Amino acid sequence: MWPSGFGTVASALVRVLILGGTGESRELAKLLVDRGVAVTSSLAGRVSNPALPVGDVRVGGFGGAQGLGDYLRESSVDVLIDATHPFAATISAHAAQAADETRTRLIAVRRPAWQAARGDNWQRVETINDAAAVVRARPQGTVLLTTGRRDLAAFAEDEAHDYLVRTVEPPLPPTPPRMTLVLDRGPYTLDGELALMRSHNVRVLVTKDSGGDLTSAKLAAARELGMPVVMVDRPALPSGVTAVEDVATVLTLLSDGSQ
Ligand code: NAP
Repeated sequence: MWPSGFGTVASALVRVLILGGTGESRELAKLLVDRGVAVTSSLAGRVSNPALPVGDVRVGGFGGAQGLGDYLRESSVDVLIDATHPFAATISAHAAQAADETRTRLIAVRRPAWQAARGDNWQRVETINDAAAVVRARPQGTVLLTTGRRDLAAFAEDEAHDYLVRTVEPPLPPTPPRMTLVLDRGPYTLDGELALMRSHNVRVLVTKDSGGDLTSAKLAAARELGMPVVMVDRPALPSGVTAVEDVATVLTLLSDGSQ
């Protein structure tokens, strides 16, 4: 049980593991470290030059739910915070299982999904393969693909479209045969997104519903250009897990010991 409030003595007794790789996880690490909480942030190690949170950081997989459970026990973790990306479904499932098996308190935080606004022309699909099928059925023209480097295989058989692919790290094959690659990690601006879309004559945007402000300028740009968007819905949260929407709510839960 979390000690009441964030008093220095009580906070120092609590060990928190944050599963990270997001802006929210870094914000949370800073806020908790500032309050004297013993925080370790965990990164998968996918990105070569990651933005590092303050406080202790460990990098690399745990070895499945079992490995994460062992880590929770061996490190005497009191609270596990799943602040991973909405599409990082495997680690979230492992977090739920490991927390359950070790009786560790779990708090999951997920930023809200994006919502279509007036003037948007979105088609929501459930999976990346569904998105690829939608694109294949479209007339020729350039597709802006921002779904991440590990989701390119679904488009690799498409000989008909040009793909403008934007990723943080260079992708590994299979990739679309007619691909122009842009390496960038944002945050992005409306002007920048408009310039990119116009200069490459983009006809459709394919994106995952990551949510948040850092990468949402592409949606405003698509709206301004009257461009259709294929939006891949988020995977479901693990069974039995409910998520809060922001870091402030996580702090409130930790402070009052609720949930
Ligand atoms: P994933 O598919 O859910 O997880 C695959 C495996 O990577 C997990 O089983 C785990 O390995 C390891 N892993 C993932 N996140 C970890 C973490 N924070 N700390 C330690 N190990 C972790 O994850 P993903 O989609 O590849 O995402 C990897 C990381 O990138 C996450 O931390 C996520 O927050 C961040 N990220 C993902 C996306 C995205 O679109 N998926 C976007 C931005 C940032 P073991 O089973 O060995 O423990």
